Amino acid sequence: MRIIFIGPPGAGKGTQCKRLVDHLGVPHLSTGDMLRITRSQKTPLGRLVASYIDMGRLAPDYLVMRIVAEFLSHDDCARGCLFDGFPRTLLQAQLLCEHLASRNDSISTVLYLDVAETELVERLLQRSKIENRADDNENAIGRRLQIFHRQTKPLLEYFAAQGKMQRINGQQSPDQVFADIIERT
Ligand code: AMP
Repeated sequence: MRIIFIGPPGAGKGTQCKRLVDHLGVPHLSTGDMLRITRSQKTPLGRLVASYIDMGRLAPDYLVMRIVAEFLSHDDCARGCLFDGFPRTLLQAQLLCEHLASRNDSISTVLYLDVAETELVERLLQRSKIENRADDNENAIGRRLQIFHRQTKPLLEYFAAQGKMQRINGQQSPDQVFADIIERT
């Protein structure tokens, strides 16, 4: 089972993915977490990644695809996996589908965690007081939301055309959101 989680920043992807991973027992790839590890390294690549993440911009597709291909090459991914925050562009989605098809594999379900924008901004500003993420400031939040609408939302149609899209109301309690996710996977 290969599941993709799509949602705007602040929709609760991280929280729900952790619960789903515990439930399904499959490996989980958060490209955001992987990129933050690279960002923290004092190397030219770390500085390059920081220049994207800190400004709320997407990291280059080739870099993200390298991380994903490496992850998928691990034996424990053979049974299935959960993609959190990936793909985020149409090119990433196409490259992922091609990569999987070349191994007679495919995406099973795409879960879209839908939350209204006013609620997202409030949640992200609240999170900035707790987690101290470089990209949880007003400028970067605005840019991340804009990028979500322009570059990631088209994926909803792309996967709907494949009959794989499931919309989840992300404005319910975390337990109810999780119950809806379980029902649709
Ligand atoms: P996230 O933790 O998923 O909100 O991701 C944090 C940041 O990491 C994003 O704002 C992007 O700068 C970068 N990032 C995460 N996933 C991707 C991706 N699939 N493609 C490009 N950039 C990404």
